This record gives sequence, structure tokens and C-alpha cells, in this order.
Amino acid sequence: MRLTLGSLKMLEKMETVDVDELIEEFETITKDAERIQRETLRKILEENASAEYLQNLGLNGRNDPESFKSCVPLVTHEDLEPYIQRIIDGDISPILTGKPITTISRRHVIYISGTTQGKPKFLPFNDELMETTLQIFRTSYAFRNREFPIGKGKALQFIYGSKQSKTKGGLNAGTATTNVYRSSTFKAEMKAMQSQCCSPDEVIFGPDFHQSLYCHLLCGLIFREEIQLVFSTFAHSLVHAFRTFELVWEELCDDIREGVLSSRITVPSIRAAMSKILKPNPELADLIHKKCSGLSNWYGLIPELFPNAKYLSGIMTGSMEHYLKKLRHYAGDLPLMSADYGSSEGWIGANVNPILPPELATFAVLPNIGYFEFIPQRVGNLESQVLFIEPKPVGLTEVKVGEEYEIIVTNVAGLYRYRLGDVVKVMGFHNSTPELKFICRRNLLLTINIDKNTEKDLQLSVDEAAKLLAEEKQEVVDFTSHVDLSTDPGHYVMFWEVSGEVNDEVLKECCNCLDRSFVDAGYVSARKVSAIGPLELRVVLKGTFQQILDHYLGLGAALSQFKTPRCVGPTNKTVLQILCNNIGKSYFSTAYG
Ligand code: AMP
Repeated sequence: MRLTLGSLKMLEKMETVDVDELIEEFETITKDAERIQRETLRKILEENASAEYLQNLGLNGRNDPESFKSCVPLVTHEDLEPYIQRIIDGDISPILTGKPITTISRRHVIYISGTTQGKPKFLPFNDELMETTLQIFRTSYAFRNREFPIGKGKALQFIYGSKQSKTKGGLNAGTATTNVYRSSTFKAEMKAMQSQCCSPDEVIFGPDFHQSLYCHLLCGLIFREEIQLVFSTFAHSLVHAFRTFELVWEELCDDIREGVLSSRITVPSIRAAMSKILKPNPELADLIHKKCSGLSNWYGLIPELFPNAKYLSGIMTGSMEHYLKKLRHYAGDLPLMSADYGSSEGWIGANVNPILPPELATFAVLPNIGYFEFIPQRVGNLESQVLFIEPKPVGLTEVKVGEEYEIIVTNVAGLYRYRLGDVVKVMGFHNSTPELKFICRRNLLLTINIDKNTEKDLQLSVDEAAKLLAEEKQEVVDFTSHVDLSTDPGHYVMFWEVSGEVNDEVLKECCNCLDRSFVDAGYVSARKVSAIGPLELRVVLKGTFQQILDHYLGLGAALSQFKTPRCVGPTNKTVLQILCNNIGKSYFSTAYG
């Protein structure tokens, strides 16, 4: 990452991170959100006025929101692909941005059902986007630190760089998180916040994530007294890390006792870096062994291992809510702090109320990091009801509390009126900027005929049925779904991996409960008249979801950004095959007779 004047200034400032000052800055910009939005749009349009994309839209130097909205269409990633492809291929003319793009974020689309699954998507990444990322991190850090001040120390961060490659045109391409972790500005920021990752770069950027994970755990144990917080980008990686710990803890203790790294670590650069850290320490090995042996079913594992950790942090909302139960189990009394809201397209909001439980977390939009519009999801006006046209987007400060919207982003890296595909709900306002709750991806997940069920509906249904498992002291390790149209009528299929043995009667009841818990009127009526067949619950063998994860990592996805696909479409043949090859038992619902 090249250091711009802006980031250099920031570095100077970061030497002395002043939490009160950061909060004050946030308060100032959010008090004047409408004006700041206009200014941000003006700046974006001025800086990119020479971009071919904008030139073709006839803005002719106008940069007010009204002209912008009348000239620039709403777009999806698909619309921008030809432009992005030219950038990737090395065309350095101003295409989407004034200055040429030098870095590309690569994302594997793994959570959307449909035809693009598994195919990487590319998005522009630049210094300006990096700066907005840092601004979000700094803001939420300030609010977190006000509640739980972190002294000098280290962070156990389960972060993984994806493979960085060069595009045909010579641009660096990595996942957005990798682009961030590799940046010197980011590293300086982390240093200023006094929570450097306890693992060396060779571990973070290692070529094999299994080996990186093992070494993250090992570094965490070696520096256990110094660990102030435990972090991963998404909560899934935290749970995955400690599930792995359950399997490898004795080997980790052996390594610490002897001061010799397990032979499972074969990457020379990782071995070399770890040899500088790992020294024989039988006392530490005995202590960890004793602590682990003394735990009941690993409850409270994290504070036992890291006695000075203040909290766990990572994105815990949306599709990550499923992992909260397990995370709380490992975390014991440690607070969970849900991190911010953003995407490879750019950040949107910071969690400025970090002490709220993740289920209640909201994100205050930073009005100076992009220009935001919102498409109301409730068809409110007659015109749109009659003509079936999408209601008009409203501005950041025009949204209404209690309403749901799809977010439209205009960012500093060449996206103009870009449909992000996320649905959010406005929960309130922080000064004049809205506080958003993430609801779901907009794409419908499950639909056969008149039924419409989203990721959120699926999550609620699984949560409800999982209560029956909890009574048996078992849990849903992970889950996904599929619409099976090979039967007539078609039906929903749920795939569950369950933590232990559960008897057939309980699983049958879970299956009925899943079916009953889809309360969408379309689904219920179609089920009643058998226009949709009985829901099927397929319980898959242990390790099935690990195979799915490995499949995506093999395609070049990064563990840091991994989200289990909650619906597997018919075109996603490999994942469907993994699931179908691992079916242990299956049940059909009798909920509708
Ligand atoms: P990616 O760019 O692949 O890392 O994924 C970005 C997507 O992850 C967003 O569009 C959201 O759907 C989801 N996401 C990001 N942050 C959050 C959050 N705080 N809560 C829930 N979902 C999130």
C-alpha cells in the first residue's frame, strides 16, 4: 500500500491515539450528516470527474445529489463487470476513478444462491478506500476502548491473508481483508492502538490456513498473559479456531513443553518465524494442560487460556448469529463485542454501542466515508404497487425508524449508486445519522412458487428447531438449505450437522418444527394445499461443513471472510455433492399432515 499524504498525516496522529478526540470527531460529523453527505458526494464526483463512466452519464461537472440521482443509474456488480475487467486487464485510463486503480479486491461469492456461486468477483480497491476502512476501525475502537480500556499488550487475531496474485494487467489482487492486513498503514494503526497481532506475518500470510490456525493458537498460548483481546473478522472463524483447539490442544502443549514445533507445520517460512518465538517451557505446558483438563465441556475456555483478555471481537451479526451460542460457551464471562458493518465494496457503519449484546448491535453510518441511499423495502406508494416498480431511494437522513431498506453505495473507489444487496432496518438515530441493524442479504434464498423466505427467515426457523436439540444438550454445528425441485411438488431441504448423537424422535420433531417455523404466508398456504411438499431434514456426518470450507479455500476464498452458504443453489454442484455424499439420516415433516 502506497502511503498518501492523508495516510501519512494519519500515521503522525496515530502515534497518540486520543480516544476522546476520535469520539468528538464522530459526534461532530454525525450532528451534521446531511451536509457532510452532500460534501462527500461533491468530493467523490470532483475527484473522479475525468472517469469515463461518469463522463458518459452527462453530469457535465454537476455534483449535487439531485443531478447525481437524475443522471447516474442504480447498478449491480454485473453492470460494472465490463469496466472492472478492463481495469484488471491493465487499462490505466480513467475508467471508474480519476486516478488509476492499482489494487483489486477478490471476493468469492459463497452466500448467494444463484448462478454466480463460487465464481470470484472483483472490486476496485484504492488508498482512499483504505482510509475509510481505518476511519471505521478507529471510531469503533474509540467507543470500545472507552468501555474496556486496553493497555499495552497483544491481540490474538485469527486473521489469514489470502493468496495475492497479479491480474493479467499487473494489478495486485487479494481479498479485501488481505489488502487491509498487508497495508503498512493498517499495521501502524494497530500498533498505535497497542493491540498488535501476537502472530508473525509469516503465520498470517502463510499459504496453508490449517498451519496458520495452529500457529495462531500456539502464539496465543505462548503470549497468554499479554493477550488483551481475541479477534477474528467474522465470528465463524473464532468458533472454528476453538473447535480446532479442542482437537489439537495436547499437541500444542507438547510443542510448548519441548520447544519444538509439530511436524504438521511444513511451510519453511512459518517454521523459521515460529522458531524465534517457541522455546521449551514445561511450566507453561503443564499449566495449560491442567487448565484444559479441568474444564467441563470446554466452558469458559478463552478466559482460562487468556486471563487478561478483556473481550472478544468480530462480526457477530447477520449470518454469524448462529455461532453466538458456541462462542458464549467458550467465552464464559468475557463480553462479546460485535464489530462493524461493511463489505469488500467499502465500510458503512461503526458499532458505537459495543456493550450491547450482538443480537442488539446496530451500526451508525459514518456520513463522510461514502454517499448512501436507501431503497424502502415495504412497497409504500400506490405507483409502485400498481406498476411493480421499485420505490425511489431516499437519502441517509431521510430514512425512517422501524423501516427496512436496501443500501445503495457510492464510494471513493469507483462505485456509483451500487446496489449492495443487503437489507437493513433503521433502529434509531445517533445525532442525525441512522443506526442500522443488519437484516439479511436481499436475494431470496428459498422460493418455489408463491413462498418467499430470506436468510433471516431461515435463521429464525433453525433457531426455533435447535431449541429442541438444546434440551438434549446438543447443538446445530452448522447448517444450509436447498430447494429440491426434482420432486413434484418441490420441497425445502435443510442440511444440519449436529454436535452428537440425537434420537430419531427428537430429529423428527426438529424437522416438523423447521417446517412450521417458516411463517411466510405464501409458504404456509402452499404447504396447506400441497403446492410445496413436506420439508426434509437431512442430518449430515460430522466434518461435512469442514469439507465445504476446505472446498472454498481451495478455490482461493479466504478464511477471514468465509461465510457458510445458507442456501445451496442447483448450479453449486460440488457443494451439493459434498452434502449429499454425507447424509447420515433424513426425515420428512408431518407438520401439515
Ligand atoms: P465480504 O465483502 O465478502 O466480506 O462480505 C460482505 C457482506 O458480509 C456484507 O455485504 C454483509 O452481507 C455481510 N456483513 C458484513 N458486515 C456485517 C455485519 N456487521 N453484520 C452482518 N453481516 C455483515
